[in-house]
Amino acid sequence: MKSTVAQLGEFGLIEWIRQSLGKVPKGYVCIGDDTAVIPPLRSGEQSLETTDMLVEDVHFVQGTSPSLIGHKAVACSLSDIAAMGGKPRYMTVSLGLPPRMLVRDVKQLIRGMIKTAEQYGVVLVGGDTVKSAKIVISVAMTGTVKNGAWVSRAGARPGDTIFVTGPLGCSFPTGHHLRFTPRLKESQYVVRYCKPSAMMDLSDGLAGDLGHILAASRVGAVLDGRAIPLRETAVLSDALSDGEDFELLFTLPPRKAKWLQNRRAPYSFIAIGCITEAKEGLTVIQPSGQRTKIQSKGFTHFS
Ligand code: ADP
Ligand code: MG
Repeated sequence: MKSTVAQLGEFGLIEWIRQSLGKVPKGYVCIGDDTAVIPPLRSGEQSLETTDMLVEDVHFVQGTSPSLIGHKAVACSLSDIAAMGGKPRYMTVSLGLPPRMLVRDVKQLIRGMIKTAEQYGVVLVGGDTVKSAKIVISVAMTGTVKNGAWVSRAGARPGDTIFVTGPLGCSFPTGHHLRFTPRLKESQYVVRYCKPSAMMDLSDGLAGDLGHILAASRVGAVLDGRAIPLRETAVLSDALSDGEDFELLFTLPPRKAKWLQNRRAPYSFIAIGCITEAKEGLTVIQPSGQRTKIQSKGFTHFS
């Protein structure tokens, strides 16, 4: 008979997780005590905290590869740290697991998380493990950033150019939402060479997410529908409204925008429009040339 989570037990699983981790970095106390212990921040740094939850049948369907679910759970938080211009450091992982879930699948899930975390230098310092009717994964991640160097959503100004880091739309049907690369390198590049006036990651659809920057910055925007990069089967309306692209959306004042566009950057940065006065709202130039004002509405839970 195949062994289940119920047979392995909570502490059996926690011990397996502990043994699956590499050496604990200097100054850290990880899995095994009542709390994790983290070395002090370097002077001149602030911490960034983010938490994201994935729920079976909401964020992934039954039968999805456990290692991809694990990757996604960690990559969502990495994407948030990237969106703030920070460097990811460590995370806790809370798991709700059905007792009948196969140990084989749980191990693949956790290996998927650890692999992605290690790839970005993130230490798994602790977590919680409980019984649940459906799979629930909650990742809380801490990153660091130099004092005051984080990039908010509130700094976009009329005249700024709007950029994205990759194609948008149809993330669910193409499986992109399970395999995406969090844009940390892109974030570090722009923060270093041409710090954005505003930045966020695209999780709920371009129109809705850009709406957050517009509201926070009290500005409007015009998007050039012909310039918005589309994923495989996506059309413009998918790019505007589909969620889970996990690309960065950022704005640059004119001089920096020109600099970035004229430079052979090692990453893809695509200009898709510009920031305007607030009264313009959010306008999209359709491929036909027609200008349409759109509601900046993306995905929301409970609707
Ligand atoms: P407590 O009862 O003190 O909250 P637990 O028994 O829940 O502790 O957990 C024991 C240890 O195992 C803690 O250090 C906790 O951080 C760690 N732990 C539990 N579940 C996980 C998990 N899913 N991933 C990583 N560490 C975990
Ligand atoms: Mg516990």
